[in-house]
Amino acid sequence: MAWQPVIGLECHVQLKTRSKMFCGCPNVFGAEPNGNVCPVCLGLPGALPRANEVAIEYALRLGTALDCRIRAESVFARKNYFYPDMPKNYQVTQYDRPLCEGGELPIVVGGEPRGIRLTRIHCEEDAGKSFHPERRGDRRLSRVDFNRAGVPLLELVTEPVLESPEACTAFLTALRRLVRWLGISDGDMEKGQLRCDANVSLRPAGSAALGTKTELKNLNSIKGVERGVAAEIARQSAVLASGERVTQATLLYDADHDRLAIMRTKEHAHDYRYFPDPDLPVLRVSESRRMAARASNPELPWAREARFRERYALPAYDAAVLTESRELSDYYEACVPEGHAKIASNWVMTELLRVLNDRDWSVADWSARVPAARFKEFLRRVAARELPGPVAKQVFGWLPAEPGTIAELLERHGVRVASGEEALRPLVRAVLEENPGPVAQVLAGRDATFGFLVGQVMKKSEGRAVPQEVQRLLREELAARSRA
Ligand SMILES: [Zn+2]
Repeated sequence: MAWQPVIGLECHVQLKTRSKMFCGCPNVFGAEPNGNVCPVCLGLPGALPRANEVAIEYALRLGTALDCRIRAESVFARKNYFYPDMPKNYQVTQYDRPLCEGGELPIVVGGEPRGIRLTRIHCEEDAGKSFHPERRGDRRLSRVDFNRAGVPLLELVTEPVLESPEACTAFLTALRRLVRWLGISDGDMEKGQLRCDANVSLRPAGSAALGTKTELKNLNSIKGVERGVAAEIARQSAVLASGERVTQATLLYDADHDRLAIMRTKEHAHDYRYFPDPDLPVLRVSESRRMAARASNPELPWAREARFRERYALPAYDAAVLTESRELSDYYEACVPEGHAKIASNWVMTELLRVLNDRDWSVADWSARVPAARFKEFLRRVAARELPGPVAKQVFGWLPAEPGTIAELLERHGVRVASGEEALRPLVRAVLEENPGPVAQVLAGRDATFGFLVGQVMKKSEGRAVPQEVQRLLREELAARSRA
């Protein structure tokens, strides 16, 4: 029997607000352990929480970007359970009345655009962090850091509509691009700013009913999600092929060894005894606030990607690479010379991104050295064939290292560009004079020899001529000779 995987993802996005979700403690990564705590996030008796307005604003930006329905009234609830890194013994989250419902994230899988339907997005707080166990002499200790306790999170849950590990990768990549684009999170999975659990089940191909699902926890990289989900699909396929049933369970994926371990089997659903948090008022979002959040969103990444394809006639691949980040796409738009979008795209995608990668620079690091107007001038001159290939590469190398206009750079390095008819025509004529044999062959229709003549002119120009220009002038001179 053929089995069809069905995957749903639960993602946690850590918001980059200045303070925590329900208190004024700083929300910073890597501070001195237990330095950023107060009675509210330590859950001391009598402390009163207050919702962070910026976190709500960020949730509204994400919700409106994804076309979710925004509830006019949503409710914070307590999810009760004990865990050593959660001092209150409950987590403040949203349960039956979440802030955002429905919505869709556009992704591309295998070249095909798709919309991945969402169930909900809600606001909640993070737990602290445990470190354990550690050996101290003959004792084993666990330590806990509450700095993360109370950091704002958005939980985003998809419908079970993803059908392959590759689709999970596309989804997470698109989500990471979006939260960075909106400026609401750095979305770094290694730092836990974006986390993901996956629900995986198999069903007979063509069947509408869902099979028994298992939950994969602690997936801490996009590659890890793809490989963990693939391993779980393989495991469930083997179970079903042997005539057994899949047991509902929670699994851990060990990315280093590509191994799954069953953490616990779920015989009963947890009873978290959710109830509305009596310390927090109902979260009310007016129509005007919802509209304002939508209006504050920039042009969204998929809209910009589509516009790049149309406005600049770029291939889908180029448009996707150039809109990987808002900063890169802004820079591209600011430096593209009119009518030469593809040339600009080639230079940005290959040379510029290579430098960023090699030097571990951000787009801002690059543009601090090479403002868009300066790069535009460079691209304009490349497009106008004023800078032959090898010279263009040299100039590109000087751009981030030295100040000055392109003309000043050429002057400073003593590079004379043989471009334009004036400089090239004498070289072309000289080559034709010096090579009567090949000239006769080309005139007799042996076009293969034409390349030889181009090569001779390039050599005479010491690599400074633009090949297209040389070809054009050679054809012109040869045509004059054949008429003569
Ligand atoms: Zn606090």
